Amino acid sequence: MIWTNYHSHTNFSDGKGTPEAFIEAAIAQGLRAYGISDHGPHPFSGDANLKEAEVKDYVKTINDLKARYSEQIELYCSVEVDYIPDHMDVNKAVIKDASFDYTICSVHHAGFFAPNEDGKIKIFSIDNSAKGLMKGIERIYGGDTRAMVEQYYALTRQMLLTVPPDVLGHMDRIKKNNGNATFFSEKENWYREAIEETIDVIAKTNVIVEVNTKSYYKNYTTDPDPSYWILEMLLDRKVPIHLSGDTHEPMHVKTAFEEVAARLMQIGFKQQRIFLGGTWQDIPLGRRSIHFVI
Ligand SMILES: [Zn+2]
Ligand SMILES: [Zn+2]
Repeated sequence: MIWTNYHSHTNFSDGKGTPEAFIEAAIAQGLRAYGISDHGPHPFSGDANLKEAEVKDYVKTINDLKARYSEQIELYCSVEVDYIPDHMDVNKAVIKDASFDYTICSVHHAGFFAPNEDGKIKIFSIDNSAKGLMKGIERIYGGDTRAMVEQYYALTRQMLLTVPPDVLGHMDRIKKNNGNATFFSEKENWYREAIEETIDVIAKTNVIVEVNTKSYYKNYTTDPDPSYWILEMLLDRKVPIHLSGDTHEPMHVKTAFEEVAARLMQIGFKQQRIFLGGTWQDIPLGRRSIHFVI
């Protein structure tokens, strides 16, 4: 099996470690390719995102590391772009001008809170905490969880139809704080319909759906993002996928990859679409890894 990970964060955004620390860990774990994809800038971001003025330095740093480690691993420079209609998407100049190797776009936000007394606008993050999720449902959606979840998927579809990235980040991250179905059940008809509608849109694009292991290995969820039942539907529609770690600590560059890959093969996936030699390629899952002689 060729192991690769295209979704990871460093201390340029909210990852815990330097790019070198992650790269060394990826080499030690036998990864063939590793993509660094720190959180991109947006107008409402805090410390967890790159600042617009830092993007140039970020790209230069990662590109220098590509050269330094070229004998040991294929490195790529990417960014996890937020989708905030009118404010941020993969086509904004700050993203386009940086010429990233590929882009990931994720929906982390589903609306805004009413301004504080100081007039500051606060964006609603759907995956920070259960408490934060509850606050958004109550204050922005009048307590209507279904309306919030449907809006999350509507935003995802709108992004895919208008400003598609190379990779859709953690497609159903909305379930992260839904342990024990606290907020909604994935078995409800309206939820399945939202997923079906979203898959209909994905199938019309060339976007790769990442199988993001983070919520699973952090014990928020019993499945990766997306859930296995959604992955079965994606397989039926021949949507390309690949494994990713959404890695924030060097120790997690490959966490849970073996077991999730085994489950993907059990479901019937025969390949994943990965970036090798600078192009996206469909590479068989389960094939023996190639050992380099250096
Ligand atoms: Zn994310
Ligand atoms: Zn991420």
